[in-house]
Amino acid sequence: MKHPCKYHPGTEALWYCAHDGLYLCQQCVDGDEDHRMEARCLLCNHDLLPAVQSQVGPLWQRLGRYLRLPFSLPLLPLLAIWPVLATLLPPLWAMVPVALVAGLPTFVFSAALMTLRAGPRKSRKAAFPGWDCLAESASWKSALWQALPASLVIGLAALLMVAVSVPVGLLVAVIGMLLVPALWLAVLVQGAEPGAYAAVGNYIVSAPRDYAVAAGFASLGCVSVVALVGVAVDVLPLPLVQGVAGLLAAWWWLVLAEMCGDIAARHGRLWGLNQGGRRVTLPLAERRQRAQLCAGRFDKVLLTTSKIIKTKKATVVDWQHHDRLLAVLGKEDERIALAESYLNCLVGAQAWSVALELVARQRHRDSQWLPTAPALRLALAEGVYPRDPKLAVALLKELHQKYPEFADLGEAYLLLAKVLAEAFGLSGKAEQYLRYVESHCRDVRLRQKVADCRLAWG
Ligand SMILES: [Zn+2]
Ligand SMILES: [Zn+2]
Repeated sequence: MKHPCKYHPGTEALWYCAHDGLYLCQQCVDGDEDHRMEARCLLCNHDLLPAVQSQVGPLWQRLGRYLRLPFSLPLLPLLAIWPVLATLLPPLWAMVPVALVAGLPTFVFSAALMTLRAGPRKSRKAAFPGWDCLAESASWKSALWQALPASLVIGLAALLMVAVSVPVGLLVAVIGMLLVPALWLAVLVQGAEPGAYAAVGNYIVSAPRDYAVAAGFASLGCVSVVALVGVAVDVLPLPLVQGVAGLLAAWWWLVLAEMCGDIAARHGRLWGLNQGGRRVTLPLAERRQRAQLCAGRFDKVLLTTSKIIKTKKATVVDWQHHDRLLAVLGKEDERIALAESYLNCLVGAQAWSVALELVARQRHRDSQWLPTAPALRLALAEGVYPRDPKLAVALLKELHQKYPEFADLGEAYLLLAKVLAEAFGLSGKAEQYLRYVESHCRDVRLRQKVADCRLAWG
């Protein structure tokens, strides 16, 4: 059974954390999305294991299936084309390369089969690629780059058998074929170009057990084919021998392609193959926080958020987040102590309704509570006086006693006068503050405003 991600139940897990005992998707780990060779747990920072390896049995358990695969109905035409064409060719040594060319449809179909198996899971519902793959240049290119090493090994082995001795030729075939699946995988993963061959080691090392099965089949299967053809030479006429060779080659080719495709499907994620997993969309810090929250590690999240709110870049959301966490963790003292800084951020962002909630919360605990910084009081009063004139008055009154040095006292009292006159109809009180502004502030602009106010209130 495939495991879902612990924190994204709709997503298949790609990783397993042995430390926390959790299956995790790509969103929930710290890893490079394009090279999914390794990733670390966002909770414990330990290296993660690929989830696939822990849930799929070894490749050899399915060996029987692979060996029977070429005889499934959609592949039978391929098993026929190669032997028929090979039989029809005149039995000359010079015709051997041409007989090999008869395998082209099989090569292309095999390349398409591997691509299908290794591709996104959705498209894997189709059991076999369609015959239209023979019209795709991408399949042809992959097929040729995959056929090249296999043909070279066979050619070299045949040459040595004829020129030196049969055992030497067989030995070269046995050893050379061990590498062929890796070369096929390299072309499959890296693309159809000579540079792809350089990555061969990667596919052998990162999936050693499964690779051993495929390499074993490639090598032993090839030698068995050669042996069978050797027997056939003695008992059958040459055209039929060519036909038998074509049939066995097609079978070998398709079985190996299916095995390589399956290896790629199992391990391709680690090699950067797109298997249709959900793309990672959120930044790492946010994903880490989400994972920690899901895991209930609030203390860890709190460490991060308290660092964030100390920076100038902290947003209202960051503050709200931090405030909520403090509430969840029952750290009321810290919450009270931070209220003014939080309010400062809210005022800066003009989040007036949240600011009012915060003030109400604070004043619920301590009915006399008001922010201490006069500039913050003025800014808050400016923002909230249409909604809460009482609070605005509380924020602004007696400022000259508490903060005689406050530079914007004139502005503050002008606003206070305005609130008193317009919201409460207390024009007498308002006049007192206007006079204070007149007598204490020399700013021409302020005096002009005072005059305007008097005019407006009649
Ligand atoms: Zn997840
Ligand atoms: Zn972990």
